[in-house]
Amino acid sequence: MTKTYRIAVIPGDGIGKEVVPEGVRVLEAAARVYGIGVDFEHFDFASAEYYQAHGQMLPDDWFETLKGFDAIYFGAVGWPDVVPDHVSLWGSLLQFRRHFDQYVNLRPVRLLPGIVSPLAGRAPGDVDFYVVRENTEGEYSSIGGKMFEGTDREVVVQETVMTRQGVDRILDYAFRLAQSRPKKHLTSATKSNGISITMPYWDERVEARAEQYPGIRVDKFHIDILAANFVLHPDWFDVVVASNLFGDILSDLGPACTGTIGVAPSANINPEGTFPSLFEPVHGSAPDIAGKGLANPIGQIWCASMMFDHFGEKEAGAGVLRAIEETLAAGEHLTRDLGGTAGTAELGAAIAERVLGQG
Ligand code: ATP
Ligand code: MG
Repeated sequence: MTKTYRIAVIPGDGIGKEVVPEGVRVLEAAARVYGIGVDFEHFDFASAEYYQAHGQMLPDDWFETLKGFDAIYFGAVGWPDVVPDHVSLWGSLLQFRRHFDQYVNLRPVRLLPGIVSPLAGRAPGDVDFYVVRENTEGEYSSIGGKMFEGTDREVVVQETVMTRQGVDRILDYAFRLAQSRPKKHLTSATKSNGISITMPYWDERVEARAEQYPGIRVDKFHIDILAANFVLHPDWFDVVVASNLFGDILSDLGPACTGTIGVAPSANINPEGTFPSLFEPVHGSAPDIAGKGLANPIGQIWCASMMFDHFGEKEAGAGVLRAIEETLAAGEHLTRDLGGTAGTAELGAAIAERVLGQG
């Protein structure tokens, strides 16, 4: 054993409390099999219960408490009966994202065996790419304002902000990710035919950064036809990089092309490792099924695979993903959203067993 990774575990609300323990079970199994040290610390903040007791989502010293961890393993936040969604989100996840400078939002788009894709005729292998979304600037700026408010001359403006540093660092992350993959192909999402200042700048930076990565094939699509091609030709893509707004849309469209929401993972990454990165499933707290032991834990477990990848523990990352795929292919111990009858813990245990079998 070389390094021990310190992982902050934050289950949050609803099914987060049910799927996170299954993720931890699989993390522990993979750590044992692949000889990796992991040290977990559990936190009850970023939840409706914490909010009820303290009137805020996080303790005042959350930054000091979390900043030394290697990663945050997050469930889901949101319990609208107790906390309005914008309060729970802004009071927790978005604070982490901002203060820990998690400027990459990464989502794999990969069709898993045994899952029916809404794209007819697509098999695993046809759909296997990443969406890399810029997570801090771009279209989601708060610069703007209103004029002549309340009159029929009302004007409303919101600016897009792109900085050289902000654009280059997300592009560099995406280029490096493409370098690590067999196809070595990067696609840029643009709209420089309609948005005439910021998007041509984005294109210009793509061309400039591409010179540093001569082995990568680069192409670009306007966002409208790119969205269409996610559906029509998902096999065309390897790594897709996009600004904040375009990435937001693509990172929901992509996983939607691979079937159920319960299996999709995501990561908010600070690539330099100055601060912890955060791994969370795409799904939310799912109040409608919470507390019943029905939730699919695969999205949360796949996050464990992404976390190992982020640590550079590629064998463990691949091992966890393989265990998920073998379990799905076998078609047993599946939860109801996958057409089975098993509960959350049964599916989690089945995947952990397969990981242990890799030892
Ligand atoms: P967000 O918190 O991101 O706003 P949401 O409230 O829009 O999320 P979810 O909480 O993800 O949506 O739930 C959407 C639907 O998908 C619900 O019907 C929920 O039961 C179902 N669902 C979500 N996650 C899972 C899961 N892991 N297993 C089974 N069903 C799930
Ligand atoms: Mg919700």
